[in-house]
Amino acid sequence: MEKQNLDWANIGFGYRKTHASYVSYYKDGKWDDGAMTADNTVTLSEAACVFHYAQCCFEGIKAYTTEDGRIVMFRPDQNAKRMKDTCERLMMPVFPEERFLEAITRTVRENADFVPPYGSGASLYIRPFMIGSGPVLGVSPAEEYLFRVLVTPVGPYYKGGMKPIRVVVSDYDRAAPHGTGNVKAGLNYAMSMYPGQLAHAEGYSECLYLDPATRTKIEEAGGANFIAVTKSGKLITPKSDSILPSITRRSVLQIAKDVLGIEVEETDLYIDQLDEIAEAGLCGTAAVISPIGSVDYHGKRHVFYSETEVGPVIKKLYETLVGIQNGKLPAPEGWIYQVL
Ligand SMILES: *Cc1c(COP(=O)(O)O)cnc(C)c1O
Repeated sequence: MEKQNLDWANIGFGYRKTHASYVSYYKDGKWDDGAMTADNTVTLSEAACVFHYAQCCFEGIKAYTTEDGRIVMFRPDQNAKRMKDTCERLMMPVFPEERFLEAITRTVRENADFVPPYGSGASLYIRPFMIGSGPVLGVSPAEEYLFRVLVTPVGPYYKGGMKPIRVVVSDYDRAAPHGTGNVKAGLNYAMSMYPGQLAHAEGYSECLYLDPATRTKIEEAGGANFIAVTKSGKLITPKSDSILPSITRRSVLQIAKDVLGIEVEETDLYIDQLDEIAEAGLCGTAAVISPIGSVDYHGKRHVFYSETEVGPVIKKLYETLVGIQNGKLPAPEGWIYQVL
């Protein structure tokens, strides 16, 4: 197979049309057989539920080439499961987990020439999503839905190596207590755009949200979970039901415990406890781990390990997880899913 002739290192993170997307329609209480389509547009009723009442959710997965030339995905079964949880919360019909895996596999296969070569640092981003497509006026779930999988190649997250980022604690919340923070609803992202934009305008890479009920505990960023290494060497991550359960975070915690022998704990992490933290990072599919150099809170800067250097534990966790993803280190059972 001839690869697309793209400047893989410099394609960035943006949408680029590929050959085909997977599409399935839900009507009369069931999903149809699904098919591939070369049409990258969607035509909907102006009354589609997604437009008015935000019935919309998504997932994010990467496919990439291993050193021995296989195309693989990392733990996509976990995304299938999470999308099921999200759909149930948003009153959307579940797209069966087995079919979810088939759909993304098929979409990657049909766009295999867009999967960047090994060593480029680039990957094929897979975006399964679902919307309420049926017309509504009164507030109620749609009766018809659209499930699609689009794929698009994305450049390396770190060009010129991993660098610590600056973050700021937001005065806004991204999710309500007992709201939808723990599911991957598009509406959560709409919520975090304004505070995110304020943070960017002030030169920060991300903003960090506190727990919405008491505003005293760290929760997560707009699209990545928070992890920290305490001065006593423990890996901790906030425990809360308004945090999106990141598959990357889950994997980092497991590796820390099982491979690196680091004690891990899901616990409350108070914003005035930062002096106990040696290293911190954000984790999610896009970056795997972004080291946090400093966090600003109400005008006061707290520097973790260093504003310019990556701390040793975060670095080790990153290298170990990326090594497992690339097939250089042995993967726990079921973590690497071969597409081709
Ligand atoms: C998707 C997402 C993450 C990262 O989850 P991964 O499964 O690791 O990609 C973290 N936080 C939020 C709010 C998200 O939507």
